[in-house]
Amino acid sequence: MAISESSISYLIKLLEEKSDVLITTHYNPDGDAIGSSLALYHFLSSRGIKSKVLIPNELPSFLQWMPGVKDAYIYVADPEKCNALLASADLIFCMDYNGLGRVKLFTDQLRVASATRVLIDHHVQPENEFDLTFSEISVSSTSELLYQIIDEAGLINGITKEMAECFFVGIMTDTGSFSFACNRPETFEIAANLIRTGMDVERVHRMVYDTYSESRMRLLGHCLGSNMKVLPEFATAYIWLTKEDLENYDYQQGDTEGVVNYALSIQNVAVAALFTERGDRVRVSLRSKGEFSVNEFARAHFNGGGHRNAAGGDIFMNMDETLKWFESLLPEYSLEIQNSLKNYQ
Ligand code: 5GP
Ligand code: MN
Repeated sequence: MAISESSISYLIKLLEEKSDVLITTHYNPDGDAIGSSLALYHFLSSRGIKSKVLIPNELPSFLQWMPGVKDAYIYVADPEKCNALLASADLIFCMDYNGLGRVKLFTDQLRVASATRVLIDHHVQPENEFDLTFSEISVSSTSELLYQIIDEAGLINGITKEMAECFFVGIMTDTGSFSFACNRPETFEIAANLIRTGMDVERVHRMVYDTYSESRMRLLGHCLGSNMKVLPEFATAYIWLTKEDLENYDYQQGDTEGVVNYALSIQNVAVAALFTERGDRVRVSLRSKGEFSVNEFARAHFNGGGHRNAAGGDIFMNMDETLKWFESLLPEYSLEIQNSLKNYQ
């Protein structure tokens, strides 16, 4: 992976010149979105640079313990104040997203902002809307990329325990606890360096993964027991959740995180989907094994995108229509999915 020297020098110059720094991340932030944003926030602060973190909507409870979360601004909680932050900033970091639409609630404000925009991200096909772009898909996560940028800049020595926890959460969650997107030795070398700061890996893991509410666990049971369909002929499995299901299990944001991976863990399944009913739309989360690109699939059929093996999108249909539509698309992809499975094993 190559991070160009000129990009690093430009970034350093920007940090010297600009004084009002805003760090933004995507809608429905996940561990890497929050981890990379807060790691950058702590890093800048350790260099004497004040910044603010702006998150579009509430973060899931399993991330609310993270160091610095309390200082973050949540757009939905105070749009006026956050619009003012966007307008007054002179440097805006865009963490863990590849297009302005991904922040959803303040896309327009971000587009017209006079600030210099810096992208740090690991999704494919970044938009051309940024003044400086660090986009690298070979890394596990945006957190890992940020670590490497700081390392390349020769500034990684001052990393603190709380910074390390933020980086670690990003890498750990985007690799499913080091089980996918983690074939690069550098990922583990970075993890080892983070642990050397004295951070407690076991505690971090516990805080993220062993803090289910009872209703979240029962919702998972419902998904796997009653709402999952396996289509062996297409090497595909999907799970659906209606509004009623969500109400019955007292759904809280983040409760469906990771659910789609259970469908993908079935042997001989190469494509998995989770459909969740949300207001006027159905949200889809897609995962694949091997070369089959759910990014392309989500772009083509679900107004979305992501990575080759993990993507998402939305469709404006009801649940029944969505599931029929999804199944009707599969024959066209059957060969590609079967090949993906064959080459993967
Ligand atoms: P998840 O299924 O966990 O919501 O998302 C999986 C991956 O796809 C994430 O890396 C996320 O950034 C990306 N993704 C999810 N939804 C969308 C979407 O609507 N548009 C695009 N471009 N990417 C998405
Ligand atoms: Mn990420």
